[in-house]
Amino acid sequence: MITYDSNNIFAKILRGEIPCDKVYEDDFALAFRDINPQARIHTLVIPKGAYVSFDDFATKASDAELGGFARAVQAVAALEGVTESGYRLIANHGKHSQQEVPHYHVHILGGESLPGLIAKT
Ligand code: 5GP
Repeated sequence: MITYDSNNIFAKILRGEIPCDKVYEDDFALAFRDINPQARIHTLVIPKGAYVSFDDFATKASDAELGGFARAVQAVAALEGVTESGYRLIANHGKHSQQEVPHYHVHILGGESLPGLIAKT
């Protein structure tokens, strides 16, 4: 059983207790730039609801939240100007992924050519 910690850093950002470099907000999601960018564009999209990770979100979120969040990620990619050039989405879940912040988030990475995930032979 996963318990949501409402004191995590992204919960504080959602409540406006900690500032962020906001890119986008709607009823379902908030997007802001990563504090330690790993690419020219590195933007995080988080749902407004209290979900620990992708797995928790996929289990508990309503269809409206699931759909609204996907559309928000797409909108943020467009706002960041990477739809044409391409981007990578990453969502870490749990210990083996090294998930650091226990509020579900999608990383949008782009703005430059990213290293491939699988070695080409
Ligand atoms: P995770 O490893 O949980 O998938 O990724 C967490 C991400 O959140 C990291 O890329 C980290 O740089 C970012 N991050 C951690 N704390 C803050 C913060 O206070 N503000 C912002 N904008 N990003 C943060």
